Amino acid sequence: MRINLKKDEGLRCENCGMKLNENNIYVRIINDKEHYFCCSHCADKFENSLK
Ligand SMILES: [Zn+2]
Repeated sequence: MRINLKKDEGLRCENCGMKLNENNIYVRIINDKEHYFCCSHCADKFENSLK
């Protein structure tokens, strides 16, 4: 998935809080909303915590 990141937006992994950039960002759509993570593992954890 292609995403447009604004410079210095300060995005952080919503699970572990790690700073994200174009090289390590991982996006997953959860409940029709884009969520940003550092890896698929964090996305899984975040998604599981919502259930
Ligand atoms: Zn993370």
